[in-house]
Amino acid sequence: MASLKSLSRKFTSAASATPFRLAVVGSGPAGFYTSHRLLKEWPNTQVDMYDSLPVPHGLVRFGVAPDHPEVKNVMTTFDKVAEDSRFHFLGNVTIGKTEGGLTVEELKSQYDAVLFSYGASEDRKLGIPNEDVWGVEAASAFVGWYNGLPAYRDLALPLEDTDTAVVIGQGNVALDVARILLSPIDVLRKTDITEYALEALSKSRIKHVHVVGRRGPLQAAFTSKELREQMALPNVAFKADHEFIKNEITESQAILSKNRPLKRLMGILEKGSPIQNAEKSWSLEFLKSPKEILTNQDRTAIHGIEYELNRLEGPLDQARKAVGTGIFKRQECGMVLRSIGYKSVPIKGIPFDARQGRVPNRFGKVLESETEVPGLYTAGWLKRGPTGVIVSTMQDAYETADTIVDDLKNGKQMLDGANKEGAAGLEPLLKERGVRVVSFDDWKKIEAAEFAAGAKLGKPREKFSRVKDMLAVLDS
Ligand SMILES: Cc1cc2nc3c(=O)[nH]c(=O)nc-3n(C[C@H](O)[C@H](O)[C@H](O)COP(=O)(O)OP(=O)(O)OC[C@H]3O[C@@H](n4cnc5c(N)ncnc54)[C@H](O)[C@@H]3O)c2cc1C
Repeated sequence: MASLKSLSRKFTSAASATPFRLAVVGSGPAGFYTSHRLLKEWPNTQVDMYDSLPVPHGLVRFGVAPDHPEVKNVMTTFDKVAEDSRFHFLGNVTIGKTEGGLTVEELKSQYDAVLFSYGASEDRKLGIPNEDVWGVEAASAFVGWYNGLPAYRDLALPLEDTDTAVVIGQGNVALDVARILLSPIDVLRKTDITEYALEALSKSRIKHVHVVGRRGPLQAAFTSKELREQMALPNVAFKADHEFIKNEITESQAILSKNRPLKRLMGILEKGSPIQNAEKSWSLEFLKSPKEILTNQDRTAIHGIEYELNRLEGPLDQARKAVGTGIFKRQECGMVLRSIGYKSVPIKGIPFDARQGRVPNRFGKVLESETEVPGLYTAGWLKRGPTGVIVSTMQDAYETADTIVDDLKNGKQMLDGANKEGAAGLEPLLKERGVRVVSFDDWKKIEAAEFAAGAKLGKPREKFSRVKDMLAVLDS
């Protein structure tokens, strides 16, 4: 039971009082934006931000496409947060395990509150036969590979063995991977895509990419910017069932007149691409549910995919349902990338809703059986599920920061215990476990080395994609 002393502990925002110590788990946009708001709204705060990787920024570094440099400008905002003397970055520390990191209990012992913003690192599976055969991969793995995520550094794909790839899913990530597969190498060369990915893509034989969805055009999840870019790919024709698209749009005028972004998106889709015939092509295919991956006899390679064709039922909006027709169709391909969503993984010591794949919460305050858990908060994809762009992640992080500030103002109970020391109190444990903690200054040294390597290659940066190479910079 909590001691009376800890229960009655109150924080004040006055600079002279004991600071409110917050541990942040995850250095993506959610962690940074929550810290940003909190440091502003509750000045007497000390933030220690932990990340399992030596480098910060989460999916801004490892997800956002290399040919979208403008999106990565948010790193400048994050740098400003990190330069604040009340903020400390502790990279290369995994939370949730003792090997290479700290348990949640250990973290709780040295902080007044913990914010979980560790994102959604796993992908959703199709759950169909032969999905485990080489040649079927998660789009998230492909994205991680070309963006230098250490876990996927050595990913092998049959890029040289086939001219046709299928991407399952019709969101922005699906279009990102389709675009990277079909972009001219000279365009990619000027981006921060990793050199090994560039080399592999320059040898790629892939010329046709089919982007497949279960439902119709109105239910596609990609946005106008990504679709426009896809239509503008040089030397790439666009193929689709234009009549079906036109009919769906015509039937849905009532909905489109009330939904401008969707109307704009449908306008781009209907217009299509001026390129009809080209060496390369991409297609948008609707009303198809993958049922089986087709492989050779010894299951060492794939040669196609079987779909059940669907029809649409229900209201004409985005809630429209795909219903199987019992008719099956096969498509030849040598690579399948599934892009049907990310999911968060539970870490020991915090409530987790396995069905929804996120931490149960109310406005960012963690809930256990509908009851608020003192001192535990969540933000970002872990809080609301793996959807939404950086701006929506920012809004949701601000909501969590406001919840923390309200709790502080109202004297709500935080984590038990007094004399919390934050990172300093955990240093001996990390030392004992042989964890090399990477500070923000260390990260800046790693980043400087990346900029220098990039300058030699005529690109913004050349990322280190192995943890040992990142750490080696600090020893040089
Ligand atoms: C492929 C892709 C492309 C995207 N492109 C765009 C785009 O162009 N524009 C846009 O606005 N949005 C884009 N987004 C969305 C955007 O990236 C997300 O909205 C945002 O990154 C979510 O932020 P987050 O902080 O919740 O999670 P993340 O960015 O995933 O950050 C989570 C962090 O937690 C760390 N972590 C994980 N587990 C642990 C642990 N156990 N201990 C310590 N640290 C841990 C991770 O290393 C990571 O740094 C894209 C997303 C994807 C997947």
